[in-house]
Amino acid sequence: MIIYLDGRFVPEEEAKVSVFDHGLLYGDGVFEGIRAYNGRVFRLDEHIARLYDSAKAIDLAVPITKEEMAEAIKETLRKNNLRDAYIRPIVTRGVGDLGLDPRKCEKPTVIVIAVSWGAMYGDLYEMGLRAVCVSVRRTPPESMPPNVKSLNYLNNILAKIEANYRGVDEAIFFDTKGYIAEGSGDNLFVVKDGAIITPPTLNNLRGITRAVVLEIAESMGITLLERNLGYFDLYTADEVFVTGTAAEVGPIREIDGRVIGNGKPGPVTRQLMAAFKTITQKEGSPIDG
Ligand code: PMP
Repeated sequence: MIIYLDGRFVPEEEAKVSVFDHGLLYGDGVFEGIRAYNGRVFRLDEHIARLYDSAKAIDLAVPITKEEMAEAIKETLRKNNLRDAYIRPIVTRGVGDLGLDPRKCEKPTVIVIAVSWGAMYGDLYEMGLRAVCVSVRRTPPESMPPNVKSLNYLNNILAKIEANYRGVDEAIFFDTKGYIAEGSGDNLFVVKDGAIITPPTLNNLRGITRAVVLEIAESMGITLLERNLGYFDLYTADEVFVTGTAAEVGPIREIDGRVIGNGKPGPVTRQLMAAFKTITQKEGSPIDG
């Protein structure tokens, strides 16, 4: 495997980062998760824009331009002969001392990893996922805006651990005010009486897949609502699904033991899954271009 590291393409064995890198010491950095389908990088500009916005929000100056980042991503895919892939660009604060002051870090570390990765949930796209509402709350925007896709994913990992112990596939986060935020690594939607409802993006990451699904739903003439949701909306929904680059569109069939709808992926979710697949196969920024 070939990795992009600070302007060079190196074999995996040589892709080493210092133990004094603040990405490791403090989770001080940002990242993206991007997919390429069929030789095209899906929504590349949007992902790069979000990466640079995340960096800006934590006062981290990415040392390469957006165009150079796009090229680094494509070249990583080309060097690894990948046409369908999951891509992980990372920008850390860089090497500093053991103190947390970022001024001690001279230059950010830039990494791009690309791997072959198929459907994250395997046959659960047919069966539906089981989820629980976890007790850990999504980090409030007053403390750490969920819109910063930072290297500190412990909040999300704690949610995942809770879901794991409770034997289900995904965690659903609430925020500290009692509203639904998102999944551990994806956005959440409910379908009720033909309308699609999803929370506004203050307490969750403004997902790029979320935006694609909203575009698809709009083009299909489905009523869209962005509003706060609570437990009641989840348990009584006709359908619930999550969206994310890794998860794609994932139907949820059970939450906290309550069967959602008829316990199978519902018709609106299925329509969106099919339309999403079509779009990902034909859109995107060509790797060889
Ligand atoms: N929320 C969280 C916490 C995530 O990690 C992700 C994955 N990036 C998402 C939502 C979905 O975002 P996207 O559709 O842009 O991948």
